[in-house]
Amino acid sequence: MGSITIKCPACETKNKISDIKQHLHLRCGKCRQSLDMRSHVVPVDLGDASMDAFLQVANLPVLVDFYSPTCGPCARLSPLLDSFARQFLGRIIVAKVDTSKNPGCSAHFQIRGVPTLIFFKNGRAVEQILGLPDANQLKVKMEYFAG
Ligand SMILES: [Zn+2]
Repeated sequence: MGSITIKCPACETKNKISDIKQHLHLRCGKCRQSLDMRSHVVPVDLGDASMDAFLQVANLPVLVDFYSPTCGPCARLSPLLDSFARQFLGRIIVAKVDTSKNPGCSAHFQIRGVPTLIFFKNGRAVEQILGLPDANQLKVKMEYFAG
């Protein structure tokens, strides 16, 4: 689990926000100003301890990137997913799981190689992509699952 820090545009208070809460309607902890997440949102860092609970409460489709920090294709995919996390804010939640640290998730979802992308809808896996996808094809799938 990670966090991001956002400076309130009204009172300049720095708000530290857990990455699992990025997709909620957020307000400044001090002055209650709405915080615009569009240029800040990052893929949610999920793992064995947080994956199930997150998928159960997610009120949007979720795309999870199962990756390994030592994998070249995963590293190439990463900036694309960072960009999609922002582009699809409010429509799809982009998340990631470091398979080297989360053997439970990897076993449960039968991850055989990285990167593997899985789309979840209503907590259920609905589509899986093994290997580095073409950026345009992935975007088309994102649009499809975003509805
Ligand atoms: Zn404020």
